[in-house]
Amino acid sequence: MTGTPATGQELAGRAASPGLAAGPVVVVDRVVAGTRPAGDPDAEAARLSQALETASAQIAGLMETVDAEAAEMLEFQLAMLEDEELTAPAREAIAGGSSADAAVAAALDAAIAEYRASQDEYFRARSADLADIRERLLRALSGEEGAAGSMAGAVLVGTDLTPTRFLETDWSAGGGIALAEGSPSSHVAMLARARGVPMVTGLGAFDMSRLTEALVDGDSGRVRFNPDEAARRQHNERAEVLAREAEAAKTYLGRPAATACGVSISVMINVAVPEEVDALDPSHCDGIGLMRTEFLFHGPGGLPDEESQYRAYRKVLAWADGRSVTIRTLDAGGDKPVPGLTVEESNPFLGCRGIRLSLRRPDVFRVQLRALARAGCHGNLQVMLPMVSVPGEITEAARLLDDCIAELRAEGREAVRPPLGIMVEVPAVAVTPERFGEAAFFSIGSNDLTQYVLAAGRDSPDVAELGRADDPAVLALVASTLRGGVAARLPVSLCGDAGSDLAVLPKLLACGLRRVSVAPAALARVKAAIAGMRLGDDG
Ligand code: PEP
Ligand code: MG
Repeated sequence: MTGTPATGQELAGRAASPGLAAGPVVVVDRVVAGTRPAGDPDAEAARLSQALETASAQIAGLMETVDAEAAEMLEFQLAMLEDEELTAPAREAIAGGSSADAAVAAALDAAIAEYRASQDEYFRARSADLADIRERLLRALSGEEGAAGSMAGAVLVGTDLTPTRFLETDWSAGGGIALAEGSPSSHVAMLARARGVPMVTGLGAFDMSRLTEALVDGDSGRVRFNPDEAARRQHNERAEVLAREAEAAKTYLGRPAATACGVSISVMINVAVPEEVDALDPSHCDGIGLMRTEFLFHGPGGLPDEESQYRAYRKVLAWADGRSVTIRTLDAGGDKPVPGLTVEESNPFLGCRGIRLSLRRPDVFRVQLRALARAGCHGNLQVMLPMVSVPGEITEAARLLDDCIAELRAEGREAVRPPLGIMVEVPAVAVTPERFGEAAFFSIGSNDLTQYVLAAGRDSPDVAELGRADDPAVLALVASTLRGGVAARLPVSLCGDAGSDLAVLPKLLACGLRRVSVAPAALARVKAAIAGMRLGDDG
C-alpha cells in the first residue's frame, strides 16, 4: 500500500503494545541534512565533535528524568555515540571535503541500512537507536533544540520511531503509535509496553501527508486513519469497556487468585530487568516465576562480572521478601544474541542457544552460577536452565553448580545450593518428561514450545497465525508435561506469554495447570479473569 489511506480505511500491522488509542496524527519525519556548503575540513570536524558532545549531554540529561529501564536504553545510545567505528566514516568524508551535516547523514544512513538488512531481529530492532542518534546529531548541527515538543494525546505516525522521541513525548494524556516499519522487539516497543502506550508496527508503506486522525488498536495490530463518525464511536465504546474492566481488575490484585469454583491458582510475575520490581507490590503476586538474565549481558560494558550479577539477583530476592524467585540462567542465542558471546548461525533458533551455549562457555557460565549461589543466601531462590533438550544437560549444569559452590566455600564465602529446575520449551522434554526427573521443577516456556511444535518462527509475522499457543498439539504437550510433573512429584508452572493471554489461559487450566507466571502489566486482569473461571468452562 503506497497511497493515502482513504477515509476510514484500516491498515493491518503487528501488535507491538496492547490497548486502544485515538487522537490527532502527528507525523514524525526524519530530519533532513542541511545543504550548507562545507567549510574547511578542520572547522567541519570541530562542528562534528561539538555536535557529538551536545548529543551526549542531551542524552545524559534525559537519562536523569527517566526510569531505570529507559536509562539503560539511553546508555546504549551513549555507548554508540562514543564508538569511534560509528563516526569514523563521517570523519573520513569530512577530510575529503564534505560538510559535517552531509557526512553524518551519509555515515548514519549506511549504518542504519546495514542494521536493517541484518538477518537478526535484534539488530534490525536496534536500527531505531541509530536513527535516533542520526536525528539528534543533525538537529545539533543545525542548532535546533533537542526536544520534540509536547504532543500530548497524539498518535505518532511515521516510518519508525526513535526511543528518545518516545521519551520526549508527553504520554500523560494518552496517545499511541502507528508505524510503517518498526518491530515489536524494538526498544521503543518495550518502552511502549512498559508505559502502556498502544502501538502497532509493520503497517507497510503508505502516504502520511493527509492524515488527520487515527484509531490505534494495539491488541489486534490494526490502525484506522481519518475515521468516520461510526468508527470513532465504536472505538470509544470499546475503549470505555476496556478502561472499566482494567479498573475493576485492580480490586483482585491484593487477593490470592482462585477460580469461581474455588481452585487456587498461583500467579507469579516475569521480570526482565531488576528495576521493574521497584514499582510493584510483592504481596500482589506469588513470587517471580521467571527472571530473565539476558539484560545483564546487553550493557555497554560487555559480559557482566560476578559482583554486578550478585547485586542484581540479591535485589529481586530482597524485594520478594521470602516469596519464591526463579532466576533463569542466560538464554542467549536465537532471538537474543549477545555481542561477544553468541555466534552467527544460519538457523539460530535451532543452534547454540540457552544451556547449550552456557555449557560450551563454562568460563562465562561459572561466573553466573557463583553469583546465583551467593545470592541464594538472601532469599528463596530457584535456578532454572533454558532450552534443555537432553537430561545430560541438567547433570552437567548441576556438576558445575556444585563445583562453584565448593569453590566459593573454599574461598570462605557463603553459598547455598538452590534447587535446579528447567524450562520445558523443547518438544523432546515435553514428550518424555519422565526422563528429566533430575530437575527440581518444570516451567513450560510456551513461546518457544509453540514455535518448535508448529515450526513457526516466533519472530516471523508471516506465520504468526500458525504459531498459536492454544493449538491442540501445544496443549497436548502442556498436558504431557503436567502428567510428567505429577508422576515425578515435581511442581510445574508456565512462564510463556500464553499465561497472560486470556483466550488461552482457560485451556491451560483445563489441562491441569495451577501455577502461572505472567507479565506484571497483565497481573490484575489475569487474577480477575481467573476469579471468573469455572474449570471446564474452556469451550
Ligand atoms: C518461552 O520461551 O516461553 C519463555 C518464557 O522464554 P523466552 O520468551 O525468554 O524465550
Ligand atoms: Mg524460551
